[in-house]
Amino acid sequence: MSDAVFQQCINPACAATYDVLQTLPKCPACGDLLDVKYDWNRLPTPKRLSDFDALALPKGGLGRVSGVWRFGALLPFAPEAKRVSIGEGHTQLRCSPRVAAYAGMNPERLWLQYEGLNPSGSFKDNGMAGAFTHANMVGAKVAACASTGNTSASLAAFAAASGLMKAIIFVGSGKIAYGKLSQALDYGALTLQVLGDFDDAMARVQEVCAAKNIYLVNSVNPFRLEGQKTIMYRVLEGFGWEVPDWIVVPGGNLGNSSAFGKAFMELKELGLISRVPRIAIINAEGAPTFSKLVNGGSLAWNGGRTDNAAISAYYAGLDTRKEKAHTMASAIEINRPVNLKKCLRCIDFMRGVVRTVSDQEMLDAKAQVGLEGLGCEPASAASVAGARKLVAEGVIGRDERIACILTGHQLKDPIATVGYHSMPEKELNEKFGEYGIRTTAHRNMPVQVKNDLDDILGAIERAGTR
Ligand SMILES: *Cc1c(COP(=O)(O)O)cnc(C)c1O
Ligand SMILES: [Zn+2]
Repeated sequence: MSDAVFQQCINPACAATYDVLQTLPKCPACGDLLDVKYDWNRLPTPKRLSDFDALALPKGGLGRVSGVWRFGALLPFAPEAKRVSIGEGHTQLRCSPRVAAYAGMNPERLWLQYEGLNPSGSFKDNGMAGAFTHANMVGAKVAACASTGNTSASLAAFAAASGLMKAIIFVGSGKIAYGKLSQALDYGALTLQVLGDFDDAMARVQEVCAAKNIYLVNSVNPFRLEGQKTIMYRVLEGFGWEVPDWIVVPGGNLGNSSAFGKAFMELKELGLISRVPRIAIINAEGAPTFSKLVNGGSLAWNGGRTDNAAISAYYAGLDTRKEKAHTMASAIEINRPVNLKKCLRCIDFMRGVVRTVSDQEMLDAKAQVGLEGLGCEPASAASVAGARKLVAEGVIGRDERIACILTGHQLKDPIATVGYHSMPEKELNEKFGEYGIRTTAHRNMPVQVKNDLDDILGAIERAGTR
């Protein structure tokens, strides 16, 4: 099996290959990112996507089914006995006429792929199933990551549930949402709060992993991205294996969007789809690196000959100006996205567009998602806010079919939600003014009532909900 599966440098001028059992944070020859590659001719592959329909629920129920490994034929890098699962990927694609209207689209055209349903509450569990499985294949005993919160929650959950290895997580001090920190602590991971931001924590964890031979599960890890491809398979499944027109996804480290690009490249190569959807990647205004480089600097994949000097110059500029990423959407508060080049390849293949949205736009969009009975965290709502912007621009048509990825659960960051809905304007401006939050047009303010029947009945009457 191992010859049909290998790792390969994404830089076509290098294209060095490595064994699947090597643990490499980047290409030793040139320093670029690595892909997991398959020689499909030598592997059993499905003839059509609907083959996946045949999978019945085994005894023991849903917890025995992995929403990642049931697509194992499309990420065949691990022997079955080595696969690790905590029951990830039981997510849903929901049609949302209300959110469609908010985005300016016709009803039944906008769908929400709710990844908050994963065991640790974010899409990261899809990727962790992949990375953890590879860690298991190479016999790792300790795994580590730097995280804005959800990767660490996921790693901690996998370590605890599988009992296969210990977890060490690096978080920037102060910036992690409470729901996420509480998970890492509860699941027993060694939690290091680095005095710095995410980009600092990311740099340190890479040094530590290299020095101590610890397995790194950040999304530089190509096996993470293998697991995250399955989000797209489930979206296609939700559409009855029809390809939508657009995928809209928040962009932080750009691992997810890169994984989506790889998923569609392979499905096309395998002849399992005839058409490729377009992708829209949405940055926060306060963490706009990808948008700035693509839209402002016209950086492109260019057949793998990316303008590395332009990227370095941009980062040098950030350093000179001491510019740090700054957004309430902590999951995408990242100025040096590690998967930048893979994502350039993705938007090249999927004819992608990149936009930014403000924190205000994200919170307003998040409240609309909430009215659908689905809770997401602020970063996730970037997809809906971004879709709305692109419809207004005429880039996405009102009648196109789109899937917005809701990357994480609402309860990850209750402070943002409760603040938005319940704070008086003055308090709101004090607390969130630095993020540009000024209004709460879509809020659902709690109503103070006396402990008195008439007062309560009066309040209900005034609200018009009898
Ligand atoms: C990690 C994360 C993102 C960003 O995904 P990338 O792969 O880093 O671009 C967005 N939303 C949530 C909730 C996340 O946890
Ligand atoms: Zn290389």
